[in-house]
Amino acid sequence: MQLYCNSLTHYSRLATREVKIGDLLLGNFNPIRLQTMTTTDTMDTQATVEQSIRCIEAGAELVRITAPSKKEAENLRLIKEELHRRGYKTPLVADIHFTPNAAEIAARIVEKVRVNPGNYVDKKKFEQIDYTDAEYAEEIERITERFTPLVKICKEYGTAMRIGTNHGSLSDRIMSRYGDTPMGMVESAMEFLRIARYESYHNIVLSMKASNPQVMVQAYRLLIEQMDAEFGEIYPLHLGVTEAGDGEDGRVKSAAGIGTLLEDGIGDTVRVSLTEDPEFEIPVCRDLVKRYSLPSSGEFTKEGRVPTADTIPYSPFNYSRRESFAVDNIGGKQVPVVIADFSRIEKISPQHLNAIGYTYDEARDKWNISDAAADYIFTGHQLIDFALPGTLKVIVYPATWRLATDPLKYFPIYDTGGYLEAAPKSQSLNFVMIDCFSDDTAINDFTHIDRLANDKTVVFCVSSKNKHAMPAVRRMLIELMNRRILNPVILTCDSHWQTADEHLIHYATETGALLLDGFGDGICLGMSANSYQSASANTADQMNAAGRNYTSNLSVEQFINSTAFTILQATRTRISKTEYISCPSCGRTLFDLQETTAKIRSVTHHLKGVKIAIMGCIVNGPGEMADADFGYVGSGVGKITLYKGKEIVKRNVDSAIAVDELIGLLKENEAWVDPG
Ligand code: SF4
Repeated sequence: MQLYCNSLTHYSRLATREVKIGDLLLGNFNPIRLQTMTTTDTMDTQATVEQSIRCIEAGAELVRITAPSKKEAENLRLIKEELHRRGYKTPLVADIHFTPNAAEIAARIVEKVRVNPGNYVDKKKFEQIDYTDAEYAEEIERITERFTPLVKICKEYGTAMRIGTNHGSLSDRIMSRYGDTPMGMVESAMEFLRIARYESYHNIVLSMKASNPQVMVQAYRLLIEQMDAEFGEIYPLHLGVTEAGDGEDGRVKSAAGIGTLLEDGIGDTVRVSLTEDPEFEIPVCRDLVKRYSLPSSGEFTKEGRVPTADTIPYSPFNYSRRESFAVDNIGGKQVPVVIADFSRIEKISPQHLNAIGYTYDEARDKWNISDAAADYIFTGHQLIDFALPGTLKVIVYPATWRLATDPLKYFPIYDTGGYLEAAPKSQSLNFVMIDCFSDDTAINDFTHIDRLANDKTVVFCVSSKNKHAMPAVRRMLIELMNRRILNPVILTCDSHWQTADEHLIHYATETGALLLDGFGDGICLGMSANSYQSASANTADQMNAAGRNYTSNLSVEQFINSTAFTILQATRTRISKTEYISCPSCGRTLFDLQETTAKIRSVTHHLKGVKIAIMGCIVNGPGEMADADFGYVGSGVGKITLYKGKEIVKRNVDSAIAVDELIGLLKENEAWVDPG
């Protein structure tokens, strides 16, 4: 194993123990299983059965159902019997928080129970407690006493278990010792895993979910390293990003986190938590996973094309941005830039810039610039014949650049050889494309890059035509670091997929995986000619199907620009909009999550950088809303409790006025600006 995976340079699935969940085998190179969770009231047998069937028909291989108390746990029997009667034998998973007695009932009925080690025994009071080692050991003893009966039941009944850590609901004990960290998440699960192993119970899956993909990725990597070091074997991993939200945001956030791990061969089952009906999660899971099982994925396993990396010059367990110098507004400490590809637009007009965040106000003869406005456009051979917004610059091919009259607006892009031979060059900024290990020749020849190294006008645009492009690009970035080559780097990524969701997942996986490791001073997303044509022909339908937030005249360029900014937001490398941490809802939910999220979004979407949590219940919501600035949490039927951080500020507000109260709270805390 290399740090946390088999290989950092070619696709290879991580070997894990095989786990049996009913008749379903998981881990040990079995197909990556798809799953979701019902949102109905568990006591409503009929509704839960109907929704489970919709999920199963959509392709769910496991269906999770909440069991908040003993009566819901008991009712799982009726749900299971009815599903069996109707011919559906898909394994069911009971979701448990706080209630060991419900878990002990459910473990006798369904094929798997999920426990949250943050709240299975501990009750969260948000207290900082300084434990001595002896006191800490006593706590572990207490957990052992409470958890062991469940382990024994699972062993007796052949029931599987997920030890599912959530970043937002770590116990006060773990928080006190490890803080709010990926290591704390790992230790939280390891405590429970050690107890299970002591009982020789191994039918276990683990998860390390967080709403922040950076934290989530680091926690899974650390968990693998820890299991390997302590046990010499890895238990199967259930991947997910919690409270990812809906639409484009939810898909991109999930793909950045889950996709980053899948790219390194990590993950045995996935759940995408969207604030949408659960059956809509399954196609997204499938899109995430199918990249690794297509016939062409033979290419993924091809070794030798990308040189191995025996050591790496960065930590995959802690975020640190790769050091680069600044060239113009790219690199150094500046936020990553976004480059929009306009090379397929025949005659660029001011209206085209609307798609990338610039709107021309004719009356005031002024450009309005949104927070998600691209920084550069690549136009290929085209010069622009109207006055551009001051902040927007243009990248063109060298022959066209030589015709441009404004050296502060236009910049050339070369291939490596072309740049070395070119004369003249821009005095301030030249883009140089670097193809990373796309052919079999000269994989260890970096002389061309050495010749460009540290030219203070050069920004690299890195890409790879390899089927498994991300590790190839990552390998090149490792090489740059090893050689102390500090030029800024633009991550360039083309998509050959067809549907909007496929494009979103592709872009977010390929670039998100690099951004989460601190690589990239900008991104440029493109589409192959075929994909572009197909997307242009049915943009509104296709893109709206994925984003659901777009207007009907959405263009391909708008879709790509929005995706680029959403990826940067998801990886927390450039914040351009409000962040919503909304739970997917479940049987505990006390209001219509989808409707409420849409309502809150409609009035707060302009609050750049503010993180708003929208959580369905007060039992789990406050714990799970992680690092949200404000929380809107269901606390009773028709009642909402509002939070500032972890602190309750308004209790049991009537839901009819709760959104207005939230706005009031934002205003009181200077987090509000008037729209427009
Ligand atoms: S926060 Fe949402 S998903 Fe989590 S238990 Fe509560 S209602 Fe269910």
